[in-house]
Amino acid sequence: MPDDRSFFQYPIFETQMIDLRSDTVTRPTPGMLQAMMQAATGDDVFGEDPAVNELEARCAAMFRMEAALFCSSGTQTNQIAIKCHTQPGNEVICDADAHIYQYEAGGIAFNSGASVRLLPGDRGRITAAQVLTAINPDDVHKPASTLVCIENTSNRGGGSCYDFEELKKIQEVCRAHGMGFHLDGARLFNALIARGETAGQYGTLFDSISVCFSKGLGCPVGSVLLGNKTFIARARRFRKVLGGGMRQAGILAAAGTYALEHHIDRLQTDHLHAAAIAGELQHCHFVENLLPVATNIIIFETRGITASDLVTRLGAQGILCNAVAPSRVRFVLHLDITERMVQQVIEKIRSI
Ligand SMILES: *Cc1c(COP(=O)(O)O)cnc(C)c1O
Repeated sequence: MPDDRSFFQYPIFETQMIDLRSDTVTRPTPGMLQAMMQAATGDDVFGEDPAVNELEARCAAMFRMEAALFCSSGTQTNQIAIKCHTQPGNEVICDADAHIYQYEAGGIAFNSGASVRLLPGDRGRITAAQVLTAINPDDVHKPASTLVCIENTSNRGGGSCYDFEELKKIQEVCRAHGMGFHLDGARLFNALIARGETAGQYGTLFDSISVCFSKGLGCPVGSVLLGNKTFIARARRFRKVLGGGMRQAGILAAAGTYALEHHIDRLQTDHLHAAAIAGELQHCHFVENLLPVATNIIIFETRGITASDLVTRLGAQGILCNAVAPSRVRFVLHLDITERMVQQVIEKIRSI
């Protein structure tokens, strides 16, 4: 079946809106749905779902890590990883804008009973020097610092990417202090494409990695957690305790395998689209402090209008986007946004 939306009658409401609220709004393509329909399935809690096993094996090989675990969401993979790396009363070090702190509903406290040390990074990126200063001394008064979490790309950082050399330095600090090193790679594939890096590079650096299939890769559901065999065996138990053990999950995993084959290289298109829209926003009277666009996310501050008023005005023009703070707006490019839609967005923002 050709991967062409017009060929396929979607049995759902077709919106006329250009939806730039998030890369999670993508719907499976005809080719992806076909792969899902053809998936060989079994009971994944018994370890008997061939499509889940295939996706996990592929991811592990791609990242050069020992094992992988298919989960329902990126929140679940991050929370399971944090649980595996910490004991109650330990402390997690991360950027103040990190998803694990900002958008996981207090999960670090709820699931792991751990505290968090927030660092003021540069657009979501922390440095080895900052991590060093945040590690608590071996003192009974202090929570033990046991885990450093990195987010690449950084969501609230406007899709910014880490410099791999800095990540190596942070890993050295983690090693020297016996701390775990976790990557929230919800959008890692965007970083790999933007930077010309490989998944294997990351797999050899981190103790655990979470990647999302429901963002830029265009899947309806799913994230994968990677680590060594012992880590993933424990993670499997925590997935169960969180109610995340799914049965014929191969239907979902097959979408993931399809996306690994078809939807990684095309992320470059989303990045070009983001750059084109940002190029226009730069000249708009209602925009200031446009963050540098590194991947598929655009974040700017509003001038002379509140973020929510701008979102309403753009909505009236058929463009959906998000107010991420009282005077901050975010656009996210993704698989369902065509070249033509990008041209429309540029024309509409020019006319505001
Ligand atoms: C979206 C996202 C996640 C996971 O979110 P879910 O909606 O739970 O899949 C994790 N980290 C970052 C940086 C994200 O943007």
